[in-house]
Amino acid sequence: MSAWGGFPRAVTYPVQPGTVEEMVDLVRSPQVDSLIARGMGRSYGDASICPEGATLLTGRCNGVISFDAGTGVLHCQAGMTIREIVERFLPLGWFPAFTPGTKHVTVGGAIACDVHGKNHRRDGSLSAFIEGFTLALPSGQRIWCSRGSESDLFWATVGGMGLTGVICDARIALRRVQTAYLVERRARTGSLDEMLATLHEHACRSTYSMAWLDLLSPDRRGERGVVFAGDHAGLEDLPAARRRAPLETGSQLQLDLPLSCLSFLMNRTTLRLFNQLVLAAGAAGSVPHLVDCESFFFKLDCLKGWNRIYGPRGFVQYQCVFPEESSGRAIRRLLKLIREHDQVVSLATLKLLGEQSGLISFPLKGYTIMLDFPFNARLLPFLDLLDQLVTAYGGRVNLSKDSRLGPEAFRAMYPLYPRWLAVKQKVDPGNKLSSALSRRLLMHQL
Ligand SMILES: Cc1cc2nc3c(=O)[nH]c(=O)nc-3n(C[C@H](O)[C@H](O)[C@H](O)COP(=O)(O)OP(=O)(O)OC[C@H]3O[C@@H](n4cnc5c(N)ncnc54)[C@H](O)[C@@H]3O)c2cc1C
Repeated sequence: MSAWGGFPRAVTYPVQPGTVEEMVDLVRSPQVDSLIARGMGRSYGDASICPEGATLLTGRCNGVISFDAGTGVLHCQAGMTIREIVERFLPLGWFPAFTPGTKHVTVGGAIACDVHGKNHRRDGSLSAFIEGFTLALPSGQRIWCSRGSESDLFWATVGGMGLTGVICDARIALRRVQTAYLVERRARTGSLDEMLATLHEHACRSTYSMAWLDLLSPDRRGERGVVFAGDHAGLEDLPAARRRAPLETGSQLQLDLPLSCLSFLMNRTTLRLFNQLVLAAGAAGSVPHLVDCESFFFKLDCLKGWNRIYGPRGFVQYQCVFPEESSGRAIRRLLKLIREHDQVVSLATLKLLGEQSGLISFPLKGYTIMLDFPFNARLLPFLDLLDQLVTAYGGRVNLSKDSRLGPEAFRAMYPLYPRWLAVKQKVDPGNKLSSALSRRLLMHQL
């Protein structure tokens, strides 16, 4: 089994409980030595695989337990996906307030990775919208965790990569929306400084914002880009024809191409062409315009299994965040290293994040950059160099995208790890909950 990046692969025993009771039985079963939960496998690396142990697929535990149409609070099982939430509750005027760049993630996976959306700077962590969740422990207990009850376990589980228990269900506050559209603005930027300043301006002004960076410009300056920002559209923003059914957009077109045969397209020439198209779209979108929510939030989902275009060797997404005060300098150094080592970046995006919430959550107040690297022989030693740079600037690497970080670098990047470990050892003294990621990072010891 592998996850979204296709690297690494490991042998594991998949088990798919049909009910939450079966799931809880598996977590406590003395016949299962080690296990990890897996939602949609959309984390990029090895967080959702338990080598030589059980990988517990949560997808069938995806029911709605209750929904309060007055407050928008949804109580659902943890295998429910953002796609299912949008399909069911958007027509009623409710939208998930935390949305990563794909809708194919489960509620359990989103909590365990403390996913950040394009609104992290404005609205904060996903934990702001989670009232609480039920956690199944290896002891056989089922514990309700919230800010007010079992709060240590709550903060160790938000961003805790599935290592403190299996989330069975959660209560989530959805956001009230009048329409299924956003008013989007795009701004083309010509230098990194301009991009960071524009992103900052939009992150303060708009609900959602992110930036895309062209790292393949022929003059190799690598600093051109586009900042995207958006707010939920009100009824008054829609043309009269759409006001009749403001919460309908039609389903997203999904192309299913034989992408694994097209991996030859992953070369500088084709990627440069693609970048030219994004830059042109950036220039064309400076006037505020309407975009349906699927196209705004989940652009990549329109190409089914787009990760297959990287071929059998897969790719690595390297995502790091730097404290705001050093972000500009750090990102400039990072881009210089990429050029010096002649690494191809097929996709580069930036966001501005808010405060950290969970004990080992990734977000940190500052700029985050995501870089997709097609796998190549020189990549892993090169990424070790990036780790050194990230640590030197007080930043950290996102575990939900990671497949190769070392235990020492992890400890330097996550200073609250000892507090997290104390909670983990209390609820899972035998280290039954373990993944390829946790074994690589030695997340059972100091
Ligand atoms: C195209 C794309 C865009 C993305 N954009 C973003 C983004 O903008 N922001 C962001 O933060 N992330 C982003 N991601 C990463 C993705 O959102 C997260 O990795 C997400 O958590 C994956 O959810 P999943 O259900 O697939 O979990 P999996 O990948 O299956 O598992 C991820 C982790 O969650 C744990 N887990 C899963 N279910 C449970 C459960 N029920 N109980 C306890 N632990 C559990 C697993 O053990 C594992 O450690 C993106 C990924 C893709 C492929």
